[in-house]
Amino acid sequence: MSKILVLGGGIVGLSTAMMLARRGHDVTVLERDREPPPGSPEEAWQSWERRGVVQFRQPHNLHPAAIQLFDSHLPDVTPAMVRAGCITLDALAAMPPTITDHARREGDERFTTITGRRPTVEYAVASVAENLLPVRRGVAVASLLNGPSATKGVPHVTGVRTIDGEEVSADLVIDATGRASKLPDWLAAIGARRPIEEAEDSGFIY
Ligand SMILES: Cc1cc2nc3c(=O)[nH]c(=O)nc-3n(C[C@H](O)[C@H](O)[C@H](O)COP(=O)(O)OP(=O)(O)OC[C@H]3O[C@@H](n4cnc5c(N)ncnc54)[C@H](O)[C@@H]3O)c2cc1C
Repeated sequence: MSKILVLGGGIVGLSTAMMLARRGHDVTVLERDREPPPGSPEEAWQSWERRGVVQFRQPHNLHPAAIQLFDSHLPDVTPAMVRAGCITLDALAAMPPTITDHARREGDERFTTITGRRPTVEYAVASVAENLLPVRRGVAVASLLNGPSATKGVPHVTGVRTIDGEEVSADLVIDATGRASKLPDWLAAIGARRPIEEAEDSGFIY
C-alpha cells in the first residue's frame, strides 16, 4: 500500500483518487478551493464557490469513454450523477446532416453518455469520493518536496509543500490541478526536466 497525494479535487483528481483508494492505497486529495460540496445538487448550482474551475456554471458533457471508465472502475458514480439530476445523452444523435444513414449498429450503446450542469456532475463525483477517502479542501499546493534520488541525476519527489508552509509527504504525487497546472515550474524548481508541451494556435477562443 502506498501513500498517495492527488493534487486537485476536480473530476479527474477525485476519480483518480477513488480508483487508487479502491485498490487499497492510502490516498488524500488536496484541493485549493475551500468550500465543501453543499447538501444538495440545487445548492451546488446556486451557491457552491468553485473558483478553481472557471467554467463551473456551465453544462458539462462527459465523453462516452469517461462513462465506460466510471462504470467499469467506479460503478457508484454514474448512478450518483443520475440521482443528482444528470441525464443521458446519445452522442450519435448529433450526427451532421451529411451523414444520412442513421441505422443503429451493434455496440452503438457505448456512445451513450451523461450530461448535466458542471456543479451537479461535480457534486455527484465528490459525494461518492468523500465517502471513500479524505479530501482536504482549502489546501493550496505551492511546491514539491524532494529527497535523495533513487536514480542519479533524477530528482525524487517525496511530497508537497502548501502555501501555508505545511509539508505533506507521500510515496507518489499525482498532479490533477487542471489546465493551468504549475507542475512544469514546480519540477524545474527542484532541478527536474520540464514536461514537453506542444501548443497550436487554433484560431478560435474557447
Ligand atoms: C468553457 C469550458 C467548457 C468545458 N466543457 C467541457 C465538457 O463539456 N466536457 C469535458 O469533458 N470537458 C470540458 N471542458 C474541459 C474541462 O476543463 C475538463 O474536462 C475538466 O474540467 C478537467 O477536469 P480536471 O479535474 O482535470 O481539472 P479542473 O476541473 O480544472 O480541476 C482542477 C482542480 O485543481 C484545483 N487546483 C488548482 N491548483 C491547485 C493547487 N495549487 N493546489 C491544490 N488544488 C489546486 C482547482 O481548484 C480545481 O478544483 C471544458 C472547459 C472549458 C474551459
